[in-house]
Amino acid sequence: MNSSTSSLGSLETSVSQAVIYPSSQHAVLQKNISVHALKVLKQLQNSGYEAYLVGGCVRDLLLDLKPKDFDVVTNAHPDEIKQVFKQCRLIGRRFRLAHVYFGREIIEVATFRGVSSEATVHQTTHADGRLLRDNVYGSIEEDVWRRDFTVNALYYDAEKAVIVDYAAGMEDYHARSLKLIGDPVTRYREDPVRMLRAVRFAAKLKFTLHPDTATPLHDLGNLLVSIPSARLYDEVLKLFLSGYALSTFKQLRQYNLFQYLFPEMDQHLNLADVNFPKSFLLQALENSDARIREGKSVTLYFLMSAFFWEALQVRVINQLQAGETEYNAYQIAANEVLTKQVKVLSIPRRITQSMREVWILQLRFPHCVGSKPYRLLAHPRFRAAYDFLLLLAEAGLADAKLAIWWTEFQVANADTKQQMTQPKNKSKRRKKPKKINNSVSKDNL
Ligand code: ATP
Ligand code: MG
Repeated sequence: MNSSTSSLGSLETSVSQAVIYPSSQHAVLQKNISVHALKVLKQLQNSGYEAYLVGGCVRDLLLDLKPKDFDVVTNAHPDEIKQVFKQCRLIGRRFRLAHVYFGREIIEVATFRGVSSEATVHQTTHADGRLLRDNVYGSIEEDVWRRDFTVNALYYDAEKAVIVDYAAGMEDYHARSLKLIGDPVTRYREDPVRMLRAVRFAAKLKFTLHPDTATPLHDLGNLLVSIPSARLYDEVLKLFLSGYALSTFKQLRQYNLFQYLFPEMDQHLNLADVNFPKSFLLQALENSDARIREGKSVTLYFLMSAFFWEALQVRVINQLQAGETEYNAYQIAANEVLTKQVKVLSIPRRITQSMREVWILQLRFPHCVGSKPYRLLAHPRFRAAYDFLLLLAEAGLADAKLAIWWTEFQVANADTKQQMTQPKNKSKRRKKPKKINNSVSKDNL
């Protein structure tokens, strides 16, 4: 590999010579690579093209993590890729990619990205430094500098079983250091989502952010305001549903980024005298991560129900004070909280609808007499609402005895169920149903 020079907008990056790591010096095992990805690499190489695995899959293989997918990069242009594979579709308008189909597995094949000439860079960069277009083909020596972190810029040649490293990614891998390629401020300005990716990978890989990569994060969070809410939402899914939500949350807060995703919640977290949300929230995040570790499913709406519980409660109190019924107070508060939030993150309606249900169902748990518990049990959202009740109870925000009652009621046989739902002590004056202490008590806030 020869050395050459490339420019990244205002950034001049001199391309050093690649360091080639033979199989004796790296931990990637061919047996852990998708056979379909290996097939794609082989066919491209047999057709006379260069082809490598790149990005997250190489990094994850090195770390003995299971790659989510296997991305291939090549010097073949999209039309040429299409000629090599029968089951292949070209996708993407801005940057054409090929999808090669093997039954249910899709191998994504991209052409090396190049560096635009100085003139084109000006045309394709927004005034704030954001990249608007990034669609020039290039060579591997150019492709590497388009990538975000050094450990995401390792190329694996399956035929020779070597890792090709231009960006000293292997050193950073050994040091467990997440380091942005190039000048961090320029790279964050080009694409502010890289800030969220920095936190996500630091949490996922248990890497430390390199100081140069970490420092600008504190000040550049407001760049996220320019990112379309749909893209932010996609990133939030990855941030919180990948099994390391707790660490991600802590680091987003640490780097002042959380406020750009969840502004209202961030304000609540900043109130020093409010003890409520932290323990509750940390528990919700920890439970969610634990479920993923146990191979159980997690839903965004459940986690989001916990995220906004505090904001909801404050608004519920206001509504109650204004004379609304508890039910209406919850509906109005939910509308307010969600309307505000979806402006930042375009959370789909089905998710916000489920969040409302989880919240509103909390009002029905204290009604343990007669037919009401049976009806609640049959509600499609019962399970999530019950799990939410357990979480509230665990944090001391709901009646623990009530949580136990519902735990027992679910598994009880028909006779026991009937006994449990009998009105207590008919001779005495009917007691009002016990109220869940989750919402209206100011002591909780
Ligand atoms: P994972 O899929 O496990 O979340 P990944 O590293 O594969 O991690 P992808 O989003 O699938 O992440 O991207 C694949 C590769 O493309 C990355 O490893 C990186 O090299 C490059 N890449 C992705 N997004 C960006 C970006 N915003 N800026 C620069 N390079 C990027
Ligand atoms: Mg990936």
